[in-house]
Amino acid sequence: MSWEENVRRAVPYTPGEQPGSADIIKLNTNENPYPPAPSVTEAINKIAPKEYSLYPDPEISVLRESLAGYFGLQKEQVFVGVGSDDVLALCFLTFFNGGKPILFPDITYSFYDVWAELFRIPYEVRPLRADFSIDPADYEGDWGGIIFPNPNAPTGVLETPETVEHIIRANRQAVVIVDEAYIDFGGVSVLPFLEKYDNLLIVRTFSKSRSMAGMRIGFALGSEKLISYLSDVKFSFNSYTMNLPALRAGVASIEAEDYFRKTLAKIVATREWTKKELEKLGFTFPDSKSNFIFATHKSIPAQELFAVLKDAGIYVRYFRKPRIDNYLRISIGTEKEMHALIDFLKNYISCQ
Ligand code: PMP
Repeated sequence: MSWEENVRRAVPYTPGEQPGSADIIKLNTNENPYPPAPSVTEAINKIAPKEYSLYPDPEISVLRESLAGYFGLQKEQVFVGVGSDDVLALCFLTFFNGGKPILFPDITYSFYDVWAELFRIPYEVRPLRADFSIDPADYEGDWGGIIFPNPNAPTGVLETPETVEHIIRANRQAVVIVDEAYIDFGGVSVLPFLEKYDNLLIVRTFSKSRSMAGMRIGFALGSEKLISYLSDVKFSFNSYTMNLPALRAGVASIEAEDYFRKTLAKIVATREWTKKELEKLGFTFPDSKSNFIFATHKSIPAQELFAVLKDAGIYVRYFRKPRIDNYLRISIGTEKEMHALIDFLKNYISCQ
């Protein structure tokens, strides 16, 4: 017998490319094109050298309290992790443990099936409707758990609170995770449902709307009971998940509400401008309430556009997957970056 037979094999998630060059217009990983509030970097710079030699607070108290205050919850209802990927992975490990299949849409965040495979969680997918919306009736049944992003990724489609509530009510025997990574860009959060449903867990991130993908801060909001189970698994894995700069930077970001709102408004305005321009060029897309647009062109294949854009130094995301292999996911950059994208496409399409 070879030692290799005992290895846990995994097929990893492939993140979007991070090019080395600063000249690239990077519209491929849904990052925020604007920096975080100046107070965020000030908070990091203020850390005394001595503080680096100590372990950070394993309870992550200051950031959990700050988030609890912001969302009108108790600190015991807030869990913080190393980006929402870390939080989501721990959620899969903690809550999808019943042996029954969990459910998510066929077109969704492509990390979900990776975690399910990694943790040997059985899962099924349900196809989105032709317009990429969820049919909540598909989620009725005795499932081991439910997860979906709202707005969905990579489509940008936002589901109404009624649709989400239908799914929660149909699955009181399981944990329903709503991944609200992109909710700040114009979505309606299901946060108010936390009062009614103790099986609802909302997962969010500082990576998109808070311009802090590099700091790795994600969090979950839910009933005290859910959060305590999640905490037990975290403390059985790694006590010191969050480093000190991330804790301080996170609190500073929550306190910089004006800056946060202004940045969001800029991105939403640029997104709406980009939608109009893409339409003029013959693109169609489901209406996006996120910081990206999932677009397909009436005559030019997405794969070709992906390649020519890349050659021109403009990176977007292309998924070679059933139903979506003729779409490009284009993150919203600065106004200037989106002008460069539209100018390039105008030129390319007019030469066809
Ligand atoms: N959920 C969704 C739907 C995402 O698109 C992403 C970004 N790749 C994440 C979670 C994870 O983001 P992060 O780990 O940076 O918080």
